[in-house]
This record gives sequence, structure tokens and C-alpha cells, in this order.
Amino acid sequence: MARVLVVEDDQFVRSALIRHLTDASHAVRSVGTALEALREVAQVGFDVVILDLGLPDLDGSEALKMLRGITDVPVIIATARDDEAEIVRLLNDGADDYLTKPFSVEHLSARMAAVLRRSRVSANGSEPPSRVMRVGGLTIDPLRRQAELDGVALDLTRREFDLLAFLAERPGVVVARKELLAEVWQQAYGDDQTIDVHLSWLRRKLGETAAKPRYLHTLRGVGVKLEPPL
Ligand code: CA
Repeated sequence: MARVLVVEDDQFVRSALIRHLTDASHAVRSVGTALEALREVAQVGFDVVILDLGLPDLDGSEALKMLRGITDVPVIIATARDDEAEIVRLLNDGADDYLTKPFSVEHLSARMAAVLRRSRVSANGSEPPSRVMRVGGLTIDPLRRQAELDGVALDLTRREFDLLAFLAERPGVVVARKELLAEVWQQAYGDDQTIDVHLSWLRRKLGETAAKPRYLHTLRGVGVKLEPPL
């Protein structure tokens, strides 16, 4: 059972989705606009959001960015536009997966199961290992999904934590952006910008800058590594 928010303005598509998801014993709420969706996710905890891109009030990518501003909940994009460039951009903007309309219920179930599996794996910390990792003054606890720097808790998003934990598992090792994209984002494709943006957020939370790195070292054109400061 998952708590699902369906964001869809087409009544016909919406009721079909609700019926199918309810039959599959998920708890479903639904709204017809992006602003209602933002209000819902701010108030209710969901396991997954199914987001139609053609909403009456906001452009889909705007809606996605605003959602990402307030929550890490997995988002599956539903789009009628079979536009690869657009889909890649949305995946980079934080969508977890996408479906092209019209899609079958089997297709939807498969995508939902994959997204939920991924988010549960990272939420449970069952993979990567559950041991507490220490790199200099950094302590990373994958089981409790908590990180501290010099004894002070860091307030990290799901992605920032996954990124930090992945690098902390291999301290001093340069990891290519492509590998981060595949292992942390579980995407076979995408651009380096996504990673650079998350790295810069993480860096800020670690209280350092690219010009004066302490833990996070970026090697231009090669990758990034985490190591204790000298
Ligand atoms: Ca629509």
C-alpha cells in the first residue's frame, strides 16, 4: 500500500487512475491543479506523486520545480508530449520517472513499483550498508539517514544524503559524474548540471566553497571525491 497523490485535470483520466490505484489497494488523493497539489504535499505525506504535465494553472516543469522546493517525494510525470528533450530536462529537474499518455495500468503499476522500491531502499538504508561511516569530522549513519559534521546534525535532502553517503563509502576515491548519475540518481542519462547543482548545495551545507574545499573536492572534467581535510 502506498499513499498516492494524483495530479490530473482530465476528469476521465483522473477517475480511471483513482479506480485502478484504489483497486491495487493504494490510498489515493487527487487534485486538478498544480497549486492544489502544492497545498496537498505541504499538508499530507505521500509516497509517490503522479503529475500530469498539462495542468490548467502552471506549466508542468514549473509545477515540478515548486514541488521539489518543498518535498523529496518521488514524482512520476505523465505526459502526452512524447518529447525526449523535455523528458530528459524533467528528469534532471527532479522527476523520478515518466509515463507517456496513453499508458496502460500495467505500465503505471510497473513504474510505481520501481519508484517505490528505490525510495524505500534509500529510506531504509538497507543498501548501501548500515554501518556508520566517518570521514574526518563527518559522521554518516545510513540506517538512521542522519549526518553530522563536527557533532552538529546536517539538514540534508534525500538526494544530498544519498550523494554524501555514496561518496563517504569510498573516501579519497574520485567518482565520475556518470557514475553518480547511475548510482545515486539511478539514471542512465542526464547532464552534469544536475549533479553540479546538488554538489553545490551539499557543499554549502558542509560550510565550504568550491574555491576553498575542505571535504568535497571537484576535479574538473573527471569527477568528485570526499576526503577529510588535511
Ligand atoms: Ca491535462
